[in-house]
Amino acid sequence: MSRNVVTFHYTLRDPQGRLLDTSAGGQPISYLEGAGQIIDGLDEALRGAAVGAKQRVEVPAAKAYGERDDTQVQRVLKALLPVEGDLNPGDQFKAGEDAFAPVVTVVGVEGDEVILDGNHPLAGVDLVFDVEVLGVRAASAEELEHGHAHQGEAGGCGNHDCGCKG
Ligand code: ZN
Repeated sequence: MSRNVVTFHYTLRDPQGRLLDTSAGGQPISYLEGAGQIIDGLDEALRGAAVGAKQRVEVPAAKAYGERDDTQVQRVLKALLPVEGDLNPGDQFKAGEDAFAPVVTVVGVEGDEVILDGNHPLAGVDLVFDVEVLGVRAASAEELEHGHAHQGEAGGCGNHDCGCKG
């Protein structure tokens, strides 16, 4: 079966209606179907969507950023953390030097200890997307080979940092 590249705008809210994120006013998102470029639940729900379709897609946490894992909440001596200065609840920083180190969130500070939450900020949150499909086209051979969508008229990889030479 051929695979498509889908371009869409979205507004993301939690089940209480709070705005979490939106592409409105910015660049729409393009992705290759089934390539893991967007969360699975949204990818599945948009299969076969027509250009111009406006759709509400509800994605349970398990198919979005996963359920919360309480073992990811840990107490650490502040002196051991790679940060300078004061830490306050809500602060986020990378828990290591390399590019793929997870982002952790400070949930509490007690004396010289800091309580850190390594869960994704949207873990355990059911997501409600309002999506407008702007474009659907067949993926190019190059996109299938790279495993992601290419942006723009020129086609190549220039607009994103996938590291390939498209
Ligand atoms: Zn590429």
